[in-house]
Amino acid sequence: MSLPREEGDDERAPPGVLLVDDDEVNLLLTASALRSRGMQVREASGGAAALRLLQDWTPDLIVLDALMPGLDGFETCRRLRSLPGCELLPVLMLTGLDDDASIERAYDAGATDFFVKSTQWSLLCGRVRNLLRSARTHHELLRSRAKLARAQDLARMGSFDWRFGPRGLRLEPEALRVLGRSPRDRRLGLRRMLRMLVGAERHGMAALLREVLRHSTVLDTDATVALPDGRRRIIHIEAEPEFDEHGNLCGYTGVIQDVTDRRMIEDRIKHLANFDSLTGLPNRRQLMWRAERALEHARRLGHRFALLLIDLDRFKGINDTLGHGAGDELLVEIGRRLRACLNPGDALGDLGVELNPLHSHRVLEAVGRLGGDEFVALLPEIDGEACAKRLAERLLQATRAPVLLEGREYFVTASVGIAIYPRDGHSVVDLLRNADVAMYSVKSAGRNAAQAYRPHLAGQSRQKLELESALHKALERGELVLHYQPKVEVGGHRVTGVEALMRWRRGTELVLPADFIPLAEETGLIVPMSEWAIREAARQIRSWRDESGLDLSVAINLPSRAFERSDLVEQIQRAAVLHGVPLRALELEITETGLMKNLQEVIPALHRLTRSGVGISIDDFGTGYSSLAYLTQLPISELKIDRSFVHNLGITEQSSAVISAILALARSLGLRVIAEGVENHRQREVLSRLGCDTMQGYLFAEPLPAAALADWLGTPGAPTRTVWAPA
Ligand code: C2E
Ligand code: CA
Ligand code: CA
Repeated sequence: MSLPREEGDDERAPPGVLLVDDDEVNLLLTASALRSRGMQVREASGGAAALRLLQDWTPDLIVLDALMPGLDGFETCRRLRSLPGCELLPVLMLTGLDDDASIERAYDAGATDFFVKSTQWSLLCGRVRNLLRSARTHHELLRSRAKLARAQDLARMGSFDWRFGPRGLRLEPEALRVLGRSPRDRRLGLRRMLRMLVGAERHGMAALLREVLRHSTVLDTDATVALPDGRRRIIHIEAEPEFDEHGNLCGYTGVIQDVTDRRMIEDRIKHLANFDSLTGLPNRRQLMWRAERALEHARRLGHRFALLLIDLDRFKGINDTLGHGAGDELLVEIGRRLRACLNPGDALGDLGVELNPLHSHRVLEAVGRLGGDEFVALLPEIDGEACAKRLAERLLQATRAPVLLEGREYFVTASVGIAIYPRDGHSVVDLLRNADVAMYSVKSAGRNAAQAYRPHLAGQSRQKLELESALHKALERGELVLHYQPKVEVGGHRVTGVEALMRWRRGTELVLPADFIPLAEETGLIVPMSEWAIREAARQIRSWRDESGLDLSVAINLPSRAFERSDLVEQIQRAAVLHGVPLRALELEITETGLMKNLQEVIPALHRLTRSGVGISIDDFGTGYSSLAYLTQLPISELKIDRSFVHNLGITEQSSAVISAILALARSLGLRVIAEGVENHRQREVLSRLGCDTMQGYLFAEPLPAAALADWLGTPGAPTRTVWAPA
């Protein structure tokens, strides 16, 4: 049906009227009257002609003469009602005066209204206009009702209306659709609807309804229903009470809406916001929330409550060597084990369940991931420290079991800090900080243990934290420098190379490695620091050559974990190429203990390095594992006798015996030997006598800034000839 138009509304085309009359004069006069009021009129002189016209034109209104030869008005009206688009078209039937029977017949035939023929055209025009207006209103109403139904369908919403007594519950078609019923299924009563609810909710809903009815209050709730096809949907129900004229409650009207998708999204968001996506454990936010609840609970009931901070030892090493994929796998596995320790009974547990208001402290018991390799365990009700320690031991034991990563077994340990409410803090923040302090004290005491907070621990770890962040910045700001100490071949009076030793220029202070290297190793910062040292050494070699004509080889100290990096060789090559220095101008020192600890991981790198021409020196030799058999298999070029033996030369006999043994071993393996920490002539003479000719120590020079080293090499009495280290 086209939109009925109204006279005087210039936004629309003039309303179209079909005028049907067999009386030509009447036709002419009526048409001109309507036209003069802005209507567009088409004329038909009979019913058949009218029906023909209506085949391809739909007017906004038809004025139809009742009495016509052939098809009369009544029959025409009846027939046109079945034409598409004409079902609701306003039809004004023109009848003769006092013709009650005709009026009756007109309505029967489907006429909208009747008008007694007269010559008062303005009356007819007024009637036509009214009819047009009401048709338009009617049409708009229909349209908006259709829109509403469509909107409700889209929103998966539908209305219902519930009257007490025989009429009962009535659901609109849209509401029936929400419940998976056909729109014709009007007989879905309250009882059957309640039966659609899933078991557990049925009684709850019945009780709620009784409660709402008793107080005539608004109903506003969600329910899970099982649809006839077996699917489950979450339905939101909202209804308002209706009262009769005496003020008595007589029923309810409201809407139901399928909110399943929305709820699923909400749940997903809730889950994402509260659970760690990697391990599925509660995340920091959720942990904080649970910790707060646990604390409240403990406060109210006068209980103790423990917070355990669990930090994996050397996790960064695994991440750096094996890559993040394996690191993630490890975290997932450790998370699973920690969880299992706390809730031995449930393997999958309460992951993903709704965070209902917590009823019991058991729910507050949790293991979560704070971030990175840090986990937290909450123990809501404990007897005391001993109890927390027992659990910490259990957690430690669980982490220690080997983890299978990429087909190989890895051993992981953790450090645990314990804080107990109320002894170690009255807020979650305080407890967490103090658990952190305790955890750090475990780390500095050698890791792989648990420790409860003690006030005296606080200072130590805070200093450490400050130092750590300062060290981070030191690297970024270029506060690190290398000093160089010559290695001297005493007999030939020449320098065979230099060792690069790192210093930190912190303000006016020059910080020595002992004060920052251990922390750098612990935090993993040593890796970028070592990378920097390699680049810096290469740059310096080039600069000595360009500016002082010196060809010096430089030994760089690297922690064993640097050798585990797969791209170490490439890194060194890049640095050498960048500054145009040969690879044999670079040497690496790795301590014996570091080497032994990670032998299997380090050996491949050593081979690649040696092949590329980079010399490898075993530092602090003699202090590590005494079995020297492994040396035969290692691609190394130099042993550095630890300074403790040199220091004791001439003091204990044993030290010279050790040095002799090392020299004999080195000779048999074709390795160079250098003694470090040579401070006086006596040491130098003994070493020479034993057959160790290459030395390093304060007797010759302290570690010097690059420029000072060049000067030193030029000073009279200093060894003057400098060469690349022999390959
Ligand atoms: P190290 O590799 O054994 O270095 C030799 C240490 O002995 C240096 O201490 C050096 O200054 C000191 N020294 C040299 N001659 C004598 C001497 O005649 N008598 C005595 N008593 N000491 C002497 P420094 O520079 O304080 O470095 C200490 C340690 O820090 C180094 O021991 C090394 O393990 C580490 N280190 C230094 N620089 C770096 C670096 O760039 N990277 C890494 N990973 N570690 C470094
Ligand atoms: Ca060294
Ligand atoms: Ca050393």
